[in-house]
Amino acid sequence: MSHYQAIAYRTGAPGAVELSRRLASWHDRMVAHERLARSSRQRCDDACPHAESIELWQDASALLGEAAERLTFLKTTATDAVVSAAASGGHDDGGRRHAYAHPQG
Ligand SMILES: [Zn+2]
Repeated sequence: MSHYQAIAYRTGAPGAVELSRRLASWHDRMVAHERLARSSRQRCDDACPHAESIELWQDASALLGEAAERLTFLKTTATDAVVSAAASGGHDDGGRRHAYAHPQG
């Protein structure tokens, strides 16, 4: 059982198991996509897992409520994707910017 299925079963929400299957499939593609993007600087398009993460995160939040917070990989990816989509309609070359940087020292 995957991480996603475990959360879905614990929540017991209708549709959560179906969602967890989509999440598990997305996770594999996202990991592969990130690896490829890092090595070849391949550009993202509308069909890439980044775009999909936004939709999945919205579905997960609606279905799972607070339990969706445990899907940290999805949440981080979706938040990043929203930010870069809003900024330029695509990913920039500057790498990841941390929205929640804590200035210290
Ligand atoms: Zn992408």
